[in-house]
Amino acid sequence: MKLLYEGKAKKVYQTENDQEIMVYYKDDATAFNGIKKAQIVDKGELNNAISSIIFTYLTEHNIPNHFIKKISEREQLCKKVAIIPLEVIVRNVVAGSLAKRLQIPEGQIIEHPVYEICYKNDELGDPLINDHHAVMLKLATYDELKSIYQMTKDINHLLITFFDQVGILLVDFKIEFGKDHEGHIILADEISPDTCRLWDKETHERLDKDRFRRDLGSIKEAYQNIYDRIKN
Ligand code: UDP
Repeated sequence: MKLLYEGKAKKVYQTENDQEIMVYYKDDATAFNGIKKAQIVDKGELNNAISSIIFTYLTEHNIPNHFIKKISEREQLCKKVAIIPLEVIVRNVVAGSLAKRLQIPEGQIIEHPVYEICYKNDELGDPLINDHHAVMLKLATYDELKSIYQMTKDINHLLITFFDQVGILLVDFKIEFGKDHEGHIILADEISPDTCRLWDKETHERLDKDRFRRDLGSIKEAYQNIYDRIKN
């Protein structure tokens, strides 16, 4: 199969069907815009499994998305989309760059979820932008942003419930959208401990990529813990 794109954690291949791609999940982990790098054994398998479960749940709740099916330990079949170069971030609890930028302690509950958009551009370090910048840069129209925010809000509600049922606090997460061959905007990319902050509800133990970013150890065990809680 022809390699269409290789990212930091995944490879994307063209399949025989023009409108379908195969996504391969690697064990590579990067942080701080690629400055910190490592291999985390079995991360690819775990993220493929976790993201497949979450996308299946979102499909069952009528969120239009690119996921078709998991085809092997590390591979998924997905609809081909043109990725909109925006990282859409949702925050339910203060953490990470928000805590740093506004000097607010991590762990503070956010009453009205905060939505942020970043321009997906490695050279610029994915800068935080607003809707007007996104329109200026022709990344999306105002109408498209409206539909992206509506879908994002629905996804947040669904994911909060999904994780809460297994004792996990959904602190924040990043999602990406793409346009399918008919121009419809659908959820794409992955949803996994690489792209979400997931804390144990009782102990606030971090079960996500912060274990890698902050050298907390037991990374694979944390991802496995998430998988074990959601697999049924
Ligand atoms: N995130 C991501 N990819 C990125 C940047 C952020 O998946 O390139 C996720 C991150 O895992 C967290 C949320 O988006 O769940 C908010 O990240 P934040 O802005 O706090 O950035 P960070 O602390 O990772 O620099």
